[in-house]
Amino acid sequence: IIVAEGIEKSFGTLKVLKGISLEFAEKQLVAIVGPSGAGKTTFLQILGTLSKPDCGKVIINGIDITKLNQVGLAKFRNRELGFVFQFHHLLPEFTAIENVCLPAFIAGTRKTDAEKRAKELLGFLGLSHRLTHKPAELSGGEQQRVAVARALINNPSVIFADEPSGNLDTANKQDLHKLFFQLRDQFGVTIVVVTHDTELADSSDVVFTMVDGTITNGTHSQL
Ligand code: ATP
Repeated sequence: IIVAEGIEKSFGTLKVLKGISLEFAEKQLVAIVGPSGAGKTTFLQILGTLSKPDCGKVIINGIDITKLNQVGLAKFRNRELGFVFQFHHLLPEFTAIENVCLPAFIAGTRKTDAEKRAKELLGFLGLSHRLTHKPAELSGGEQQRVAVARALINNPSVIFADEPSGNLDTANKQDLHKLFFQLRDQFGVTIVVVTHDTELADSSDVVFTMVDGTITNGTHSQL
């Protein structure tokens, strides 16, 4: 179970998150929706340990991440969490497999083990024939799948995705959404996704709507 309690965050005089409390079970696809500027990305970054709240706490896998120091936080993030963003943030000078292996190297995984796992993941994502391609030599959908493989390399329990299909055409968008459900079902990963895509939100297990820094509902879909 993932819990956020009383999360507040301001940037200067602008109060972006106004005391957000919510919880959801693991191994679900959780969508956070809401108008532009509502604070969704800010909240996702706090859940994902990328930013600290001014007050409140976040508990993931029984650990209060808001209490960890920088080193503990970095370790926790690398071991337990994966990230997929709208723009894939792949390193342009590295090949697909090198990009996927990076977080494993940071976690201290042996090169041969990391490469074996990266190959398996890229294979699972239909990219066996693209291992040594650099990002510029891949299509947008392929680049995003490499980013998903990179997010999965350390076997995270949670993947945070911020508008992951925002930059994709309809076919690639649908493929990515299907992939999220596969990750939930086959890998047992919890996926927390900020999205403007109503189709994805409608088929998620839980939808939270954020408006002006507060959650206005938490509905469980019909699934
Ligand atoms: P969108 O759907 O457009 O991505 P969002 O709901 O994700 O919007 P956020 O990106 O969380 O919204 O931003 C919420 C508010 O906080 C906005 O007004 C934004 O300008 C402001 N904001 C976000 N990050 C910062 C920052 N680092 N410094 C100052 N203001 C910020």
